[in-house]
Amino acid sequence: MKEKRKWWIPFVNRTLDFVLTSFCPICGGQVFKDGYSYVCQDCLDTLAWVRGTRCKLCGIPMAGMDFQGLTCAGCRDENLLFDRGRCMFVMEERARGLIHDIKYHGARMILRDMPSWVERSEGFREYLEGTVLVPVPLHRRRLGKRGFNQSEWIAQAFRKALGPSVEVIHALIRRKNTPSQTELDRNQRKANVKNAFALVRKNHLRKKDRIMLVDDVFTTGATLNACAEVLKENGFQQVSVATLGHG
Ligand SMILES: [Zn+2]
Ligand SMILES: [Zn+2]
Repeated sequence: MKEKRKWWIPFVNRTLDFVLTSFCPICGGQVFKDGYSYVCQDCLDTLAWVRGTRCKLCGIPMAGMDFQGLTCAGCRDENLLFDRGRCMFVMEERARGLIHDIKYHGARMILRDMPSWVERSEGFREYLEGTVLVPVPLHRRRLGKRGFNQSEWIAQAFRKALGPSVEVIHALIRRKNTPSQTELDRNQRKANVKNAFALVRKNHLRKKDRIMLVDDVFTTGATLNACAEVLKENGFQQVSVATLGHG
């Protein structure tokens, strides 16, 4: 049965942000803030956190495989140019709701739980350590409309959770205001983001940097790949990707 989305929670939580209680965006239950507070622990336990063997390029779990370096069928279909990829959880309905609240309702407070998310994601801290986080940019017109870039929020949340071993650099711009990828199939997605990105002229990246592209969700990898292509063409050798969800 489809869970009823509690549309009011992001709005109420934004108002309650300064007091000691809020509502879990998944179950609607009251949560008392204790440091890890926005999503209740019971609901966090039910998210499909990635554990064990996973695809090297997108991070999706691969059951029954116990050797390294393997890629899933989806990634084998793409000509992905980045070296590695990780995601924190597989997108099922609850995770989809969380991402939706962040992206479309501006519920940035959900990302304050990031330290506990990182701990729940086996090896994720080590994966991010020492990298330069580069958020996937929005076109300035879309940014103007939405008021924020969720990928930038996620990159900042990673940085806060990781500490000074990582930094965030806005090295890319989106020069084509491409339509949303949501309704597009694999090939349309690829065509849609072709040449959509460019390097910021004064970007502060160093050629030896280990670059970590950050986005909210990995679907086919087309957007992240278009970003990786720009970086690789400009001589950056080490490019990986990190997302919250996969699906
Ligand atoms: Zn809950
Ligand atoms: Zn994959």
